[in-house]
Amino acid sequence: METRGYAVLQASAPLQPFTFNRRALREGDIAFDILYAGICHSDIHQAREEWGDAIFPMVPGHEIVGIVSALGSSVTKFAVGDRVGVGVFIDSCGTCENCVVGQEQYCLDGMTGTYNGFERDGTTVALGGYSNKFVINENYAFKIPASLEMSGVAPLLCAGITLYSPLRHWKAGPGSKVGVIGLGGLGHMGVKFAAAMGAEVTVFSHSAGKEEDAKRMGAKHFVVTKDPKVLADLAESFDLILNTVSAELDINLYLNLLKLNGTLVVIGLPGKPYEVSAFNLLRLRRSLAGSMIGGLPQTQEMLEFCAEHNILSDVEVISADYINEAYERTVASDVKYRFVIDAATF
Ligand code: NAP
Ligand code: ZN
Repeated sequence: METRGYAVLQASAPLQPFTFNRRALREGDIAFDILYAGICHSDIHQAREEWGDAIFPMVPGHEIVGIVSALGSSVTKFAVGDRVGVGVFIDSCGTCENCVVGQEQYCLDGMTGTYNGFERDGTTVALGGYSNKFVINENYAFKIPASLEMSGVAPLLCAGITLYSPLRHWKAGPGSKVGVIGLGGLGHMGVKFAAAMGAEVTVFSHSAGKEEDAKRMGAKHFVVTKDPKVLADLAESFDLILNTVSAELDINLYLNLLKLNGTLVVIGLPGKPYEVSAFNLLRLRRSLAGSMIGGLPQTQEMLEFCAEHNILSDVEVISADYINEAYERTVASDVKYRFVIDAATF
């Protein structure tokens, strides 16, 4: 299936138009015409080889929505014309103890990433969503509720579920105080979800100009982090803090803000190790944890939650020839709050 997209041909090179073929449908596959693909900061980290070895040519993109165009012979979940979404993984072993409980992102055999990795045959390079067509096994695709506008849905497939999952796991809700560090693509979804779940939300940002937006999204408090004294004044007051920052950060400043039994969740992936003060961690029995996207059932649940609470990502829709500039603006924290590519422009 001839597909037009954008690819990176070598680390840090700009993205450029790229044509390739998607596989013919296997019996459990669906094909779909992509409408929109979000730009996640993980795309930038990988295109620039900031996480170590990458596979080129790379077609990034793991926040993908579209309309089903063809079905393999055994497909039961989708019909032609259905709205469909794909996130950060396209396959997993399906049989390990994590897969069978719907935690496929933690597949013991390794989840199969939507791009920058090999499919489960070990030789086919997976190519992602910055393209106009997609093929995937139906079990790894999501149904999009009819009420949700599609460009604002695309970022839910990574940014959305990545924040929804830890908020559920650590039981954010009425009475809990949640902090979100970084108001970017992930962070803004965290604010919307935590507020919808009933938590009291504080945004920690190094961009003073984002306060009004943060409050509109549901944050009660907005803290500009440039002055460490402001953070010190908030010591021992949070149950849960989600760090979505894509750059290096002194996480000890934030560990110090946790109450007894509070948890700081590492979500941002700058690529370099964090330094952690054992004193900060021991005091008040604090936890430092990590969380990676979410499994298939919880991603579908998150989409239903969005329909129920009318939650979408705030997006700036761009054409394909703007991707490189969008990367620069994302790195400069100048994104409100997710760039989404209009796939008609590939
Ligand atoms: P993003 O849209 O670029 O947002 C990151 C935000 O971090 C920025 O908007 C900015 O917020 C803050 N920030 C950036 N540079 C900073 C600096 N030098 N100092 C302090 N704050 C800074 O990125 P994203 O797409 O949300 O992704 C965030 C991170 O999560 C990336 O590292 C990405 O790879 C990772 N990620 C993890 C998972 C997972 O499963 N755990 C999934 C997807 C992505 P303010 O302007 O408000 O300060
Ligand atoms: Zn992502």
